[in-house]
Amino acid sequence: KKLSSPYITSPYGDLDQAWFVNCVCKVETELPPEKLLDACLGVEKDMGRVRLKRWGPRVIDLDILFYGDLVFQTERLSIPHPGIKERLFVLVPLVEIEKDLVHPIYGKTVEELLKEGSFEGQRIRRISWR
Ligand code: ATP
Ligand code: MG
Ligand code: MG
Repeated sequence: KKLSSPYITSPYGDLDQAWFVNCVCKVETELPPEKLLDACLGVEKDMGRVRLKRWGPRVIDLDILFYGDLVFQTERLSIPHPGIKERLFVLVPLVEIEKDLVHPIYGKTVEELLKEGSFEGQRIRRISWR
């Protein structure tokens, strides 16, 4: 199990809103992918998340980035998460905790994706838990 630092990040998609806090964590689970998604959605609901619009403000957003090296695609679940390589707020904390993790579709490490990507207009700043 690992947990990245929290990062303050500029809004993504809909720019006219407050900045976010983003983290990445690595966990072990016995839940299969779709049950893990249900668990994430359940926690979001318990924490009071109401879906108003995509990429809008939210109290919490729990996304599954990878599930080992599984590639899985259904209507309600895509693994790996399709937004990883465009998102600084995903790649920077991922590289902090697991820089050699290989993306099973692109065959590149998250560190390589971060170096090769273009993240125009995205801002990120590491903060501290302490
Ligand atoms: P984005 O997925 O672009 O980050 P979002 O996280 O704001 O957007 P949500 O409203 O949280 O989107 O989720 C919409 C739906 O996305 C969920 O109900 C879920 O069925 C689906 N989904 C597909 N793949 C994933 C994944 N890897 N992790 C979490 N949700 C996923
Ligand atoms: Mg999301
Ligand atoms: Mg989500």
